[in-house]
Amino acid sequence: MKELLADLVALQNVEIEMFKAEEGLREIPKGVEEIESIIRARKSSLDAIDEEIAAYEERKAPLEAELNENQTILDATDARIKRIKTNKEYLALQREMDLAKKRKADIEEQLLSIMDKIEKKNVDKERIQKSFESDRVILDDKKEKLLAQIRELEAVLDGYKGQDELLRKGVDPSLLSKYDRIKHSKKGLAVVECIDGVCMGCHMHVPPQLFNDLVRADKLITCPTCQRIIYVQTQAPGE
Ligand SMILES: [Zn+2]
Repeated sequence: MKELLADLVALQNVEIEMFKAEEGLREIPKGVEEIESIIRARKSSLDAIDEEIAAYEERKAPLEAELNENQTILDATDARIKRIKTNKEYLALQREMDLAKKRKADIEEQLLSIMDKIEKKNVDKERIQKSFESDRVILDDKKEKLLAQIRELEAVLDGYKGQDELLRKGVDPSLLSKYDRIKHSKKGLAVVECIDGVCMGCHMHVPPQLFNDLVRADKLITCPTCQRIIYVQTQAPGE
């Protein structure tokens, strides 16, 4: 029984290491994705600011064109006013000029307000860019470490590949099916050591009579509390 169990423990050890590696390979990519999504979010907030700035620039262009047009009107009226002969004509032109001047002031005010907004957006952009650049170093470093961990775990899995199948072939089939049953129901260890009369699976004491059977190791014994297969280590380590 002792030897049979030793093979099973060897299989379990390999499967645990493989399970840990697989678990890591499931979890670590989530961390990588999290970092990538932070970077994407930062980039898109910068893009959003760029779009806002572009939209303001677009609003500037027609206003600037109108301002030019308005100036042409003002210049023309100015030239005409010098050749005016009647008071009535003078008043009409004066009114035209006043309107053009009012419109000019209005456009200039709008342009100033737009330029003010562009300036503020540029300040925001610079601030976000700076903090992004310094965070980026940390984020890239974190990501690189996670990717290195993934590569390591893949190498671990590669190293164990085939070993579990090989060990399975060496274990008594009925013992193996019992092991698999317990492993699935416990989602983990199926064979555990009993140390000083305590089951290492559930940390409960096993009855003294059972402990004597364990030491004799002539039959398969399961923990009465957690149903895991239990054994005692009687050999010195490495023997
Ligand atoms: Zn137990």
